[in-house]
Amino acid sequence: MSATALTEDQLQELRERARREAGPFTDPRIISREVPHSFAWASAVLGRPYGGPRSITWPERYLLHIAAETEPTPPTRRPSEPTQSREDGRRYREQLAADWKAISDQVPVAAEVRHNYTSVRHLEFYRQGVDHIYLLEELHIGRIYRPANNSLCYTPSRARYLREFPPLAAGDIRLPDCRACDRVLKRIVQVAAVESTAQRGT
Ligand SMILES: [Zn+2]
Repeated sequence: MSATALTEDQLQELRERARREAGPFTDPRIISREVPHSFAWASAVLGRPYGGPRSITWPERYLLHIAAETEPTPPTRRPSEPTQSREDGRRYREQLAADWKAISDQVPVAAEVRHNYTSVRHLEFYRQGVDHIYLLEELHIGRIYRPANNSLCYTPSRARYLREFPPLAAGDIRLPDCRACDRVLKRIVQVAAVESTAQRGT
């Protein structure tokens, strides 16, 4: 069973509509929303493996938006049902794991991806319910300090929005898509580069 009940004809029609309608400019109302449904559903609609919100173009994001309007409730896969392509699924998970390793290698302490379940409406610089880089140990590099067991984007002023981070279910591999975490990670990479240059200079 596919992750979508949309027929190939419907998908073709939606893809053509997206090409016609998306236009050159992104729609913030769509972009700011979470990508609908599951990774498997997004992959089925896109016609290629979906690797998270930053892996797609604006017309593709628009496509997912209109496809979700057409299919607000995709079929749920029964656990016992063999997946359509085990091999594809395995390769996809391997790719995700490799992508996550490349990201986590840049974090100086042990970290994993966790979803934020803290319930809040909306904040200017912070989007609820995204997947964060979650620190299992205290991090201190340059002027960046984070206590252990917090997201990388943690700040005392945002603490109340960053409370609930249960571990992911076993086998659930995700890539972080929190923009604030990403910004902090870029700062860490910069600090690490400066420090290693300074060490070489002495
Ligand atoms: Zn974050």
